[in-house]
Amino acid sequence: MQGKKPDPKVDIRYLKGVGPKRAEILKNLEINTVEDILYYLPRRYEDRSNFTFIKDLKVGEYQTVKGKVLTLGRHRTKRGINLFQLALGDKTGVIYCVWFNQPFLNKFFKTGQEIIIYGKVEKYAKLQINHPEYEIVKEERDSVNIGRIVPIYSLTQDVNQRYLRFLIHEAIADFLSCLRENLPTNIRARRRLVDIRFAVRNIHFPASFENLDKAYKRLVFEEFFILQLALALKKKDIKTDTRGIRHSLDAGLINSFKKLFPFELTQSQLKAINEIESDMANPKPMNRLLEGDVGSGKTVVATYALLLTRENGYQAAVMAPTEILARQHYINISELLMPLGINVRLLVSGLKPAKKDEIKNEIRKGDADIVIGTHALIWEGVDFKKLGLVVIDEQHKFGVTQRHILRTKGENPDVLVMTATPIPRTLALTVYGDLDISVIKELPKGRYPITTYCFEEEKRQNVYLFIKEEIKKGRQAYIVYPRIWLRKDATTAMKAATHMYNKFQEEIFPDLQVGLIHGRLEANKKDAIMKKFKDGKLDILVSTTVIEVGIDVPNASVMVVENAERFGLSQLHQLRGRIGRGGYPSYCILLGNPGTEAAKKRFYTMSETQDGFKVAEEDLELRGPGEFFGTKQHGLPELRFGNILRDFEIMEQARSEAFALVKQDPYFRNPRNSFIKQALRRRFSGKLDLVNVG
Ligand code: ADP
Ligand code: MG
Repeated sequence: MQGKKPDPKVDIRYLKGVGPKRAEILKNLEINTVEDILYYLPRRYEDRSNFTFIKDLKVGEYQTVKGKVLTLGRHRTKRGINLFQLALGDKTGVIYCVWFNQPFLNKFFKTGQEIIIYGKVEKYAKLQINHPEYEIVKEERDSVNIGRIVPIYSLTQDVNQRYLRFLIHEAIADFLSCLRENLPTNIRARRRLVDIRFAVRNIHFPASFENLDKAYKRLVFEEFFILQLALALKKKDIKTDTRGIRHSLDAGLINSFKKLFPFELTQSQLKAINEIESDMANPKPMNRLLEGDVGSGKTVVATYALLLTRENGYQAAVMAPTEILARQHYINISELLMPLGINVRLLVSGLKPAKKDEIKNEIRKGDADIVIGTHALIWEGVDFKKLGLVVIDEQHKFGVTQRHILRTKGENPDVLVMTATPIPRTLALTVYGDLDISVIKELPKGRYPITTYCFEEEKRQNVYLFIKEEIKKGRQAYIVYPRIWLRKDATTAMKAATHMYNKFQEEIFPDLQVGLIHGRLEANKKDAIMKKFKDGKLDILVSTTVIEVGIDVPNASVMVVENAERFGLSQLHQLRGRIGRGGYPSYCILLGNPGTEAAKKRFYTMSETQDGFKVAEEDLELRGPGEFFGTKQHGLPELRFGNILRDFEIMEQARSEAFALVKQDPYFRNPRNSFIKQALRRRFSGKLDLVNVG
């Protein structure tokens, strides 16, 4: 061992002050090695660097005092509690420090000693701090617990701040010099990033807040950099190593496409179409995200891609998250393309087995040009003869992994993902970092704004009157229910909706036609009701959130959301997107009682803005990225240090460096970059088989 540098990867039990027993306890904090403890970041910091003179102490505040031990001693209180007390003096006064049941402190302190204490100042007969943190001033060792900016860590049972600080201090002393620098020097210089040793030392024991910032920035940059390298590689892999289909373009096609619509395509739509065309004309497979608010006209854009695929003699698949939405797409797309002699097919589970077989057969033989179905159905047991394009409508549901399975079906088809959650750029770069992105920003012309009101229960009758008036004008209304909690038992949304449906039809709107739709209905029943609503045979549709996704009834101008405080912001926005589609002034009414601050914020945001991007930013802010995306599987990386929202600027810098590096040195042949493969393997071992590190 002599002369050999200690390896930070050694088991934590070889760190001074840790035995086998403590090592077990530290494992609860996921600290297994010395390296782990070096990267065990503080939860927050306390500034204990400024000493306060005793005469200036403020009662009730946490303060730091430096002084000499004047007297000390043990007592036993009347109730039998062991009490240790010392008097600390500086040149301006005296303060008492009191500890209960720590008699051993009697041996620890000595009169005349210089010490620093930190704690909440109280005043009884005299100034006093109970259970202060303390440290004996020694020349030779820099202070760890007091008299500085002090790190505060997350703890587990049997590990306290003091002990953890001590261990980390030891780890830094013995192992810091062996930490490897993982960032290329030129990048560090360009981005003004401190070296790894400075960073680790200062993230724990910063000499100043300025140093702390530098340390933090460096560590977060590194984390994001590795992540973005992985994304850059994934993208490169798809781009260069796989050959897909080269579609030929036909200048006349876009003109005949435009003629299919009674309206002009928006600039955003034309731009997206352009981007898709150049992707498809390229032999590398398209891998593009089409992002736009509900009703911004994404489906129209996707339809062009379908048409182009078919013109080139390939088949296309459209995958929707729900059956209702698949049917909706089928209706819209077949209406447009069937007259051109294109065979559009719907494949959903509600079909009779014989019909399903017939369609699958057509797909296999290549007779079906465009197949629309739910994700699941197109997955299982469908063989395409010549699959050229897959359109994945994710709306606001995310499923990043699925895209990759897709590549194995067919001959590297082009992939277009549509999402209606306007993802803030921050997240798009991370979650969809390997995709090219087209954004539809403008809404089609002639859309009336949606006015959003927030009402509490006492306005309910007025809301009913308002609905009646709108219906008198010829419009239609949605009334949406969430799952609600009554005392102990959760009432399903279906139950709530069903209950209210009866009440509406019989008591409140006896002269109107009221319909009910929820997820438990059989598919053909759902269809029948949707069709009735769409054809204007129902005035009011009472529903659960099944109508959230993709339903298009332009004549509906009112949406009432019951117990609106139970919905998330993005969900409310999705729901609201069902109205305002028909050129009538439209109204979204949030009925409910926003009890919490967060709910108030959601209501406020909804009434303030109709811009999906703003709503999404706000939602992200309120819920954090994990919640925003629903579950962990959705491609959102787990981050140890950085915060996607707060550290967005660092993310952008890291991204631009990572992409530049992969472009310059895609196989990391430059010795300067050789560390990267290891770093990537360590970070993504087993998780990112999608990345071919080589
Ligand atoms: P998305 O898929 O983004 O929700 P759609 O493509 O389904 O949006 O379009 C929503 C509605 O707007 C549809 O009825 C569609 O016909 C219509 N629409 C699409 N683009 C335009 C446009 N440029 N001008 C007017 N209406 C449009
Ligand atoms: Mg749509």
